[in-house]
Amino acid sequence: MTWYWYAARSNELFLDLDSPEQQRRALRVLRLALKDHRRFWSGKSAKLEVDRFRQHLVINVLILMRSVTLGHCHLIVVNNEEFQPMTRVAWSLWLGGDPLRAAYALERLGRGYCPELIALQYPIQEDFRQPDAMCPCKDKHKEERVTKYCPALNQLLGDHAAADYFPRVRDERRKLGPLILPYGRLSLTKLERWENPRWTKNKLTSI
Ligand SMILES: [Zn+2]
Repeated sequence: MTWYWYAARSNELFLDLDSPEQQRRALRVLRLALKDHRRFWSGKSAKLEVDRFRQHLVINVLILMRSVTLGHCHLIVVNNEEFQPMTRVAWSLWLGGDPLRAAYALERLGRGYCPELIALQYPIQEDFRQPDAMCPCKDKHKEERVTKYCPALNQLLGDHAAADYFPRVRDERRKLGPLILPYGRLSLTKLERWENPRWTKNKLTSI
């Protein structure tokens, strides 16, 4: 198996959209951003004070790619202009991108590493640029036993190849019903022992 790695340039957004909600969100925001930009340049909104601060997407290329996982996809947005580093992450979040990816992007940015990477099982279409790195890893790049020894990650992130900056929370797929929130000051000891299902049964009145 070959993985094709791309490190986002400062005019690119790489989004992992893993649910219909995220996919719908991204397409809706893109649609509005396009309309917004056209309206702005038509001069119709030039007098609006709000537009002084407006962020615009000037999209050059938009590529939607199937992921190996059914129902998941990748969206590549190539902007005509470079983004400010923070604005790029803000756009990713606003477009429905994964908050974990955004958190990692900000952390890498702060540490001077390439903020955003994408690993694909086939290269982006031919007229896009060549991948920045390739690797033959057998598994997904999640666990340290893979990331630490991945030649592509070592090439792109150096000693941060296996850096895991934040604790990961798995998506909750079971329907658990409404969450009973224990408002007020939370006990840190109880929070550490907290198990999700119990909170919904109203047994835990304070935490
Ligand atoms: Zn690898």
